Amino acid sequence: MMKKTLAVFLVLGSAALAGGCREKAPVEPPAAAAEKSAGLMIGVKIYAHEGSLSDLFAEWRSAGVNTVFVSPDLADQGPFREMARKQGISVFLIVPIFFNPEELKKDPGLYALTDRGGEAKDDWVEFVCPTRPDYLSRRREWIKTLVRELDPDGISLDFIRYFVFWEMIYPERTLGSIANTCFDQSCLDQFQKDTGIALPEGLSGTADMARWIMAEHGREWTEWKCGVITSLVRSIADEVRAIRPKLRINIHSVPWREDDFGGAIKIIAGQDLAALAGPADLISPMCYWHMLKRKPTWVHEVVEDVYSRTNGLVVPSIQVGNAYIGDPLSVGEFKEALDEALRPPSGGVVLWNWDALAKEPEKKSAFAARLKALNR
Ligand SMILES: [Zn+2]
Repeated sequence: MMKKTLAVFLVLGSAALAGGCREKAPVEPPAAAAEKSAGLMIGVKIYAHEGSLSDLFAEWRSAGVNTVFVSPDLADQGPFREMARKQGISVFLIVPIFFNPEELKKDPGLYALTDRGGEAKDDWVEFVCPTRPDYLSRRREWIKTLVRELDPDGISLDFIRYFVFWEMIYPERTLGSIANTCFDQSCLDQFQKDTGIALPEGLSGTADMARWIMAEHGREWTEWKCGVITSLVRSIADEVRAIRPKLRINIHSVPWREDDFGGAIKIIAGQDLAALAGPADLISPMCYWHMLKRKPTWVHEVVEDVYSRTNGLVVPSIQVGNAYIGDPLSVGEFKEALDEALRPPSGGVVLWNWDALAKEPEKKSAFAARLKALNR
């Protein structure tokens, strides 16, 4: 893939790639990347990379990327962070919180439970219960270790929400058709303790208890769920900033506007973006319009909605290639979505993901051309 990508850039006449030695960062003044793109965050998500890192960084520089959202493994690979520093490219570590197949395999007792009483699992999406102190403590220690050892510019909290396979929730769905979580004993106990609401005697089974809570105390349940997520973000933010005071914190948010699916972003996902904007530096809704059967204009609608609630930095993530849906995602549609993503009050754009862009030369050229136009 890298060879193909390199060939494309050479055909396009990119001087940056022509003379670089292997694994030696190309020489350009630091922070130059950040100065490009009219102060906007221009990011890409990338999870793994085989091949030359210096070629990869040269491509990012050439395209106008100033921020990368990477897996901890990639950030730890060879001279990755040193190259990023030299290039003035910010590094955010993507850290998943409640999506954790490895821990769930070891201990299935950690599964969140749905209002139907089943494990929170749908295809590849499987979630840990959000109120297990031991699990949360392990996640926090893991993140702190990453911050100490990898010294990133930011952390990007992924799957910091309640269970939902939102990638498969299309516009016609209703709130009642989406599973609510988590109704296991840990959450039921914590809910009662925190709110003073007591479950009545005589309820039998998870589904019964979930029905009663949603019917009698649905509002309190949703507020409590949102509080669980917000408190967690706040505690992670406090702990990592005690290590690195300038560390930036991003939240990957479910791309639902406040009223979509009857308020599901709070009721189902437990993400109160107005509250999360306190401890977080930026919110990045995953505006993958194509897989969600929306139009590119919807990307901007989500940004406006999030901004109206947070008054903070909103940087939408948009998809580059096909996912879940068979219809091809055309170059024209990608360009349109990119334009929508960059419209004010957006603070930039994050592409999901670099690999998809790298294998589609036309989209890559369109991306670079759009970013060049920002500075004219
Ligand atoms: Zn639970």
